[in-house]
Amino acid sequence: MNELQFNDASYEHFLNEEKLMGSKCTRCGTLSVPPRPICIKCYRDEMEWVEMKGTGTLQAFTCIAVGPPSMSQEGYDRNNPYCSGVVELDEGVKVVARIEGVDTKNPENIQVGAPLRVKFLHRGTGDSYGTVLAFDKI
Ligand SMILES: [Zn+2]
Repeated sequence: MNELQFNDASYEHFLNEEKLMGSKCTRCGTLSVPPRPICIKCYRDEMEWVEMKGTGTLQAFTCIAVGPPSMSQEGYDRNNPYCSGVVELDEGVKVVARIEGVDTKNPENIQVGAPLRVKFLHRGTGDSYGTVLAFDKI
C-alpha cells in the first residue's frame, strides 16, 4: 500500500476499506489526516502511511438543520438535524467528521470532550460509491 499517493483519492480508497489513514513525516513525525504529500511542519516529502486507531474526543460541533442535497437525501432536515464536528484523534490530529449517536435536536446535551469511535458510512453505488467519515459515541 505504500505505492499509493498521499492524496484525497488514496484517503477515500482507505475509507472504503474502513481504514482511517494519515501520512506521517519520516523526518519530524508530524501526522496529517487526510494525508498530505508534503510535511506541513518541515516541508519535506518523505511520508509514510499510518493507520489511526480510530478513537478520539469531540472538540467542537455544529448541528445542521439545512444541509446540502446529499444530506436531504439521507433524510436530514429541520426536524432531523445532523451533527458535524471536529474530533481530536488519540494520535493528536484533528479531523472533521459526521458525529452520530448524539441528540442533535437538543445540542445543549452534546458534550465537548466526549469519547468517540470511528464509524464508516458507506453511501451510493457504482461511480457514486463513497464512504463518509463519522464518529459515534463510545
Ligand atoms: Zn516533517
